[in-house]
Amino acid sequence: MEQKTIYLDNNATTPMHEDVIEAVHQANVLFGNASSMHSYGREAAMAIEESRKALASLIDCNPSSIVFTSGASESNNTVFNIFRERIDLGSKRNRIVTTTIEHPSINELVKYLRNLGYRVDECPVDGSGRVDPEVMKTYLDEDVALVSVMAGNNEIGTIQPVKEIAGLAHEVGAYMHTDATQAIGKIPVSMQSWDVDYLSLSGHKFYGPKGIGVLAVKPKAPYTPLVHGGHQEGGKRAGTYNTAAIVGIGVAATLAERDLEEESKKLWTLREMLRVGIEERIPNVVVNGNQEHCLPGTLDVSFPHAEGESILLYLDMEGIMVSTGSACASGSLEPSYVLLASGVDIELAHGSIRFSFGRYNTEEDVAYVLEKLPPIIKRLREMSTR
Ligand code: PMP
Repeated sequence: MEQKTIYLDNNATTPMHEDVIEAVHQANVLFGNASSMHSYGREAAMAIEESRKALASLIDCNPSSIVFTSGASESNNTVFNIFRERIDLGSKRNRIVTTTIEHPSINELVKYLRNLGYRVDECPVDGSGRVDPEVMKTYLDEDVALVSVMAGNNEIGTIQPVKEIAGLAHEVGAYMHTDATQAIGKIPVSMQSWDVDYLSLSGHKFYGPKGIGVLAVKPKAPYTPLVHGGHQEGGKRAGTYNTAAIVGIGVAATLAERDLEEESKKLWTLREMLRVGIEERIPNVVVNGNQEHCLPGTLDVSFPHAEGESILLYLDMEGIMVSTGSACASGSLEPSYVLLASGVDIELAHGSIRFSFGRYNTEEDVAYVLEKLPPIIKRLREMSTR
């Protein structure tokens, strides 16, 4: 087989869909400031409102609930900031509950808030990275202001029982947030049926542009802007509208909604082909995460006696692009905190590789990985025992 280029890092980011590229290109011409009252402004504003409707339809909420942000990191920070302010103002509900396996845009924020003296508890997860609602219950009481649990994990793909946890949060009178960034376009996401008060998502994870995301907020949920300034987004998020990116995420939302079923089936088929193929060809591997509740395109595997970073670099030489655990953690040789929090031992956490599929992957890609990966692992294991 000749050298190929195979992108299996779709949880880190996805390429823009050709329809998105075309729409962004066209929308760049709409240069008017969407807040201006003249016709150029109104034209841009109309395009933004179309996009808002597409996003509302995708996540099953009212268009007025959609706040455009710069991405899921900003959306997550906005939610925590709302409750931090309420705590500062003397609310009796002065505790936030989240989990040990959230994305760094929450996980690192938790450390920051704790350093400042706020009470933030992280509910532990089981060996598959899943929150047990019974365990979550023990963290909830009348002093909890906010519960934040991600819908699907970026690294191991574990899907959380968000609806059940939202029920528990509401029972004690707390608000519920979910970071649905990795779930969009892969599993059905519904603000209504999950009954969540806040939901974060990001355009570049589902074939939309980078630097654009959404925070969806239920009408009666508390709100404070993170970014103060102009009156954009009804005063919820200041800053001149990024019309082209907003149009792009709208087109991506329409495609994600239209193709959900087909995409989700395809991603799972490819993921399973790779999992079975790896287990057949390579001895002593550990598949991480929850195999029943798993995002369809995510496969996280530990290869004992082979270093994750070395596997990644050898695969890259063969044109195969993957990640060690989380792209956000690459560059550092820290073991994956998600795996450690799931009770995976430190050696296995060091040797984990995340394969994440997307809409442009094929069965031939899987066959190519299955040809190239086994000799790499064999070689690295031989080197490590020398
Ligand atoms: N949450 C999750 C679960 C993610 O995977 C990511 C992106 N890695 C983010 C939040 C941050 O998204 P953004 O890049 O839009 O800030």
